[in-house]
Amino acid sequence: MELSWRLRGACRGLDPEIFYAPSEDEGADRAKAVCNTCVVQQQCLEFALANRESEGIWGGATEKERRRILRQRRKTAAA
Ligand code: SF4
Repeated sequence: MELSWRLRGACRGLDPEIFYAPSEDEGADRAKAVCNTCVVQQQCLEFALANRESEGIWGGATEKERRRILRQRRKTAAA
């Protein structure tokens, strides 16, 4: 899997705690603000969805939000 996008992430060099400390939606605002400036946000989100990343903020989405996206995609695919 191509992972070079990670080198261009806006989170590079930042404290990982920003992205892993928030539980669910609480405290995720700081991480989301960084993700929203990130040029590889979509790649990051797709990576997390494909790998069922269960923790942290990826591509601007919490674990709960990623589960919601996957559910929505399954529904759309089944329709
Ligand atoms: S979207 Fe967020 S977590 Fe993903 S690489 Fe960019 S800043 Fe990092």
